[in-house]
Amino acid sequence: MRYSYEQLEQWDKEYVWHPFTQMKTYVQEHPLIIERGSGSYLFDVNGNKYLDGYASLWVNVHGHNDPELNEALHMQIETIAHSTLLGSANVPSILLAKKLVELWPGLSKVFYSDTGAAAVEIALKIAYQYWQNIDPVRYAKKTAFVSLREAYHGDTIGAVSVGGMELYHRIFQPLLFERIEVPSPYVYRMSEYGNEQEIVQYCLQQLEHVLASEQERVAAVIVEPLVQGAAGIITHPRGFLKGVEALCRRYGVLLICDEVAVGFGRTGTMFACEQEQVTPDIVCLGKGITGGYLPLAATLTTNQVYEAFLGEADENKTFYHGHTYTGNQLSCSVALKNIELMEKRQLVENVRKKAEFLAKKLEMLYELPIVGDIRQKGLMTGIEIVQDRNTKEIFPRSEMIEHRIILEARKRGLIIRPLGPVLTFIPVLAMTEEQMETAVSILFDSIAEMAKAVR
Ligand SMILES: *Cc1c(COP(=O)(O)O)cnc(C)c1O
Repeated sequence: MRYSYEQLEQWDKEYVWHPFTQMKTYVQEHPLIIERGSGSYLFDVNGNKYLDGYASLWVNVHGHNDPELNEALHMQIETIAHSTLLGSANVPSILLAKKLVELWPGLSKVFYSDTGAAAVEIALKIAYQYWQNIDPVRYAKKTAFVSLREAYHGDTIGAVSVGGMELYHRIFQPLLFERIEVPSPYVYRMSEYGNEQEIVQYCLQQLEHVLASEQERVAAVIVEPLVQGAAGIITHPRGFLKGVEALCRRYGVLLICDEVAVGFGRTGTMFACEQEQVTPDIVCLGKGITGGYLPLAATLTTNQVYEAFLGEADENKTFYHGHTYTGNQLSCSVALKNIELMEKRQLVENVRKKAEFLAKKLEMLYELPIVGDIRQKGLMTGIEIVQDRNTKEIFPRSEMIEHRIILEARKRGLIIRPLGPVLTFIPVLAMTEEQMETAVSILFDSIAEMAKAVR
């Protein structure tokens, strides 16, 4: 049975509560209802075609409806869809774990879950329990976590506890555990601190100050390596991540790197940590891990962390955590195939080349007076929209300028999303240069339209 757009629209508005969405405004507009996908394109139920400029929320790697990923999934589903990892094993989860450990020098163990937020939640609980397992008396006070200003690590309560975004996180404050905030190098809005390197130095000094005085209470530092995605694609200058790692080592706290957004080729290397030769104690993976096919996430740890959890049955060192679908075979088999295809298709090298191409194309957006800053790392792009280039003042939220720009882009065949005043262009990783060129010219026209309207 095929339903009409009107029927689906009515039921969507009647029954579905959308995430991160003000439903009062949502129901006043006509929703985009996606029916199918192919390569870098999405098609709605009316047959309109759009470039997927947000990689279906930063997850899609090889494009939609990839024949080889489809085949891997078909083969798995004809074998078994799911059995539990609690007390038993399964084939795809073993092979994927082996592959992930091979990709991550220094990390040895894989703990599965199904969303990025859960991977973070697990990392935080492991970090806390690690110290308790080693010495519950000596480390009794290690209950706090350090994270960056504007940090985003997901939406469950533990992940929100280490979050630093006013808009999303403030309301839940009374429910959260302790977080110590340190500044992150948001170069565009920190010019009073000097040049890039001086800003990095300032941020690292602040972190050092916190660790020197609070070391006893800090279980771990958690960061998004190289790029803070949800905060508005805040790209960190070279040296910051390495500096954070060095401070964690000096003050004896664990380092958790949340690679949920930046992992799997997004920043031009398989993992962002590679670019500064950083080896965290714990890593969180998600989003692109299955190529955008199925929900799956993983938390990886070093052997040192893992060994702190080994003990006799009555020692209570077990990590009592698990989700019903942990290690699901369909997700793990498509993830393994995704990684194999990334290697076979030399996707990461291609991302680096295409990122250079994209950077050149994006420069033309600076011709538009409301474009304040363009930030890019690999195929992760943020375009900050301002009212005034000199003061860097943003438009009042009530004007919904960025929302209006993305609607303009949609009319022209490109789907993107804003994050506050920042338009993000996070294409399917396999998007061609030609398609990216089209996307940038749609971006240009859509922003130009709005620049005219507000003048
Ligand atoms: C998206 C994201 C998460 C949360 O992942 P979900 O799968 O949405 O729970 C966590 N950390 C970072 C850096 C993210 O970008």
